[in-house]
Amino acid sequence: MNIRAAPSPAPVVAAGGTIAGPGIYSVPLKAPQAAPQARPVPPLQVTTDDYERWYTEPSPSNRMLLSLRSGIDSEVAWSLNRLCRLCVNEQFLLANIPGLTDALFEWPEWFLDEYSKPGSSSKTTRMKIEPAVEDALFSVSPDVKRRRRHALESLFIFRNASISEANAADLAMMPRTRKLVFNALDRLSPLINTSDECAEFVLHCIEILHSIVRNIILPPPSRTQEPGTNPIPALERLASGSSNRSIIIASLIALTHLVCIPKNALHSSTSSPALTTAIRNLALYNDSALFEASVGFLYAHLSYPPMTKAFLVHPDMPATLRLLVGYIVAEQNEEDAVIDVSAPRHLAPVVKTRSVNYELTGSELEKIGTLPEPERCYKWMKTMYMAAPDKEVTQVEFWTNYKELFTPFQDRSTLLVASDVIKNVGTVYAQAQAMVLPGPPQRFVIRGISRSQKEVAEGYYKCQWDRSTCESTNFTNPDELYEHLKTAHLEPLASAEPPGDFTCSWSTCQHSAESIDRLRPHVWTHIPLRSALPVDLTHIPKVAFASKTEQHLTPTPTARATPPAPQTRVTYPAPGRDPPSNALTALLVIRTLFRASFASVEAAPRADADHFGFPGVVEENDEMELAVSDTDSEAEKEGERRGRKAFIGVRHLMESIRLRDTALMAWIMEMVDAGINGAQ
Ligand SMILES: [Zn+2]
Ligand SMILES: [Zn+2]
Repeated sequence: MNIRAAPSPAPVVAAGGTIAGPGIYSVPLKAPQAAPQARPVPPLQVTTDDYERWYTEPSPSNRMLLSLRSGIDSEVAWSLNRLCRLCVNEQFLLANIPGLTDALFEWPEWFLDEYSKPGSSSKTTRMKIEPAVEDALFSVSPDVKRRRRHALESLFIFRNASISEANAADLAMMPRTRKLVFNALDRLSPLINTSDECAEFVLHCIEILHSIVRNIILPPPSRTQEPGTNPIPALERLASGSSNRSIIIASLIALTHLVCIPKNALHSSTSSPALTTAIRNLALYNDSALFEASVGFLYAHLSYPPMTKAFLVHPDMPATLRLLVGYIVAEQNEEDAVIDVSAPRHLAPVVKTRSVNYELTGSELEKIGTLPEPERCYKWMKTMYMAAPDKEVTQVEFWTNYKELFTPFQDRSTLLVASDVIKNVGTVYAQAQAMVLPGPPQRFVIRGISRSQKEVAEGYYKCQWDRSTCESTNFTNPDELYEHLKTAHLEPLASAEPPGDFTCSWSTCQHSAESIDRLRPHVWTHIPLRSALPVDLTHIPKVAFASKTEQHLTPTPTARATPPAPQTRVTYPAPGRDPPSNALTALLVIRTLFRASFASVEAAPRADADHFGFPGVVEENDEMELAVSDTDSEAEKEGERRGRKAFIGVRHLMESIRLRDTALMAWIMEMVDAGINGAQ
């Protein structure tokens, strides 16, 4: 144990092929089965932390490699254990340790030979019996069990390492890899349902195949009779016959990769058992990994035109199409899109306002008037005037204002003299100053101040007696309007001889009362409430108009055009996020089938003055068309007929597909249209 834990210097190989470590152990090495890689060693990469570095030294005398080759069971187990941990690191490179790959091949190759013997002689029964069956019947010796685990661990290391590009390229270059994988698929695939170890072994092999598949070109179908040269039949058997989900998925993916290589397309078969499995699995929408493998295989299979044509007459074709369209619908994520279609509106304040000079209210006057001087003067200036650098007031106006306001309070607080009042301006407003503007006429002004302003509602307190024709001016508050109504309109009505009828004359009001006493309280209801206006008239509520030219408070409010609604929104379902990639693959399969179904020139829209024609269809002249129709087999026509029928069948389902991508959505629309046109 201390060998594994202690980071002592790496053992070195002595000339005699024994490890001459620092006195720890010395064991003869097994003769190397393959010469170390002659390839130049890539520059060292740090695979893990410093503690690990010692184990990953890129030399043929690497500690792990030596242990692996030692043949000592505990050493091999330790080395594999360590490699299993290292191989998940993406910087782990098999080529960094020359000879490691070859050493790792030994155990899986032993496993394959051991397991695929036609039959071994069982010690107990003296009968020829297959190892897998023997496993099921009798307990395996610990020694064999350990070796099998070594084999599985070695494969596991390959499988994890092959995820990185560099390792995959290394493995793909070695004939041993392909031989091991192909033979394992051929010989072990019948055993996966009886032996878990075989299933694991095969799964690792398929996953290694995923990484090295890109440059595997299979011999043409006629020459693939000899075992170990064509993995497709084994993979198809695994995909269709296995009950192991991982193996089904891995097999379908491996088949997809293999068939995708154009030169391997000839290996596609209309009667492929994997095709049946893929179609069956399409219904499992929730198992996205299985669905992805299945739809991916289907797409790869149908990418070869003869397979597409053949698939159109497949009895499961309409159901497949429906499942694929259904998947896109199930996976799409709709959300409510909102369009604001409000008509343009023009806002204007409820009442027109204008600025008037601020006047002290009764209570303000009472409060300020009784203050002692000069506080009264200061307070008065602050309230009734404001700083305005460009404005001026005349000194007479200024003094008169003061005098008129505060003369009634003379008994409680003596008035200041005019010169003092004017002088005080400088105390309250620093920039203001009294000056004489040269004439003629000479003017005595105070520059830098102006009267405080306040907003008043224009026309809000207007008398509308005599059907809105009363000539009275605008009042600034309800009290004035009340007074006006009382004296100018109601009193004459009360004292009229002979008494007239007591009908309210306010604007369009038609109220009629028996006596003036009954009419009076009614008329008060027409006086606008002060509380209906906001205190701060700069924040008056706005009212909407249909056009900019309209004014509020028109003489004929009933003739006003109906203003648009505050907001008119149209809500409709729209695609939210983009569909998952599986849905896009499904769409590609649908598209492939569509193109095949509507491929014949007769069915496709022709390019003419109004149409662009059908994409991908080359317009032919009459002679060529004749030639084509001669060679068109009846089966192909039947396939297209069935394909079109299937598209008519799914068009309602397809109408509910919403995709954000406009180009893809155009595909959907085209297929829906074709379904509708085909139905007519
Ligand atoms: Zn009036
Ligand atoms: Zn009235």
